[in-house]
Amino acid sequence: MLNIVIFGAPGSGKGTQSEFIIKKFGVNHISTGDVLRAEIKNNTELGKTAKGYIDQGQLVPDSLIIDILASVLDNLKESKGVIFDGFPRTIPQAEALKVMLNERGQDVSIMLDLDVPEEELITRLIKRGQECGRADDNMETIKKRLVVYNTQTSPLKDYYKKEGKYQYIKGLGTLESIFGDIVTAVEKL
Ligand code: AMP
Repeated sequence: MLNIVIFGAPGSGKGTQSEFIIKKFGVNHISTGDVLRAEIKNNTELGKTAKGYIDQGQLVPDSLIIDILASVLDNLKESKGVIFDGFPRTIPQAEALKVMLNERGQDVSIMLDLDVPEEELITRLIKRGQECGRADDNMETIKKRLVVYNTQTSPLKDYYKKEGKYQYIKGLGTLESIFGDIVTAVEKL
């Protein structure tokens, strides 16, 4: 089983590189952000709760997101592995993921840290807001999301270094060159 955590700040290219990884390695994709946006679109109770946090640039509470992830994992039938995109975002989420995978006789195979300077992140997110109309891609919310990333999510780098799963990936350059570095790292496993 190939279980990849794709990691990085908002705008670092996690979604784009996930698509390439899925095509090449045939893994399933779990994006907690996509799951939440679908819930919001369908106007579910979960969606209504999540929207309050997302619009403020805050993280949805761990307990909610961990329950979502467990149910998505349970619904995966045959799988060569999973790419986790936008999860985990906190230490408790990383610990919960480890437990969930261990219960299935698995573990995280690698954590890919897509590193992009903050100025470039802001430029990309503003552009995405204009092109895709994502409500949280506006300057005020972007700034809050970057603070949340730096304080709550970034410590996961050390967590995965201790686990021996951390892999730095320079997130600048062409999509192909970044993907090339990812393939090299994954094929070494
Ligand atoms: P994303 O599409 O991954 O950038 O996620 C968009 C928003 O959804 C985030 O800013 C959070 O508010 C929420 N979200 C997505 N994934 C998580 C997670 N693992 N933990 C908490 N909140 C999340």
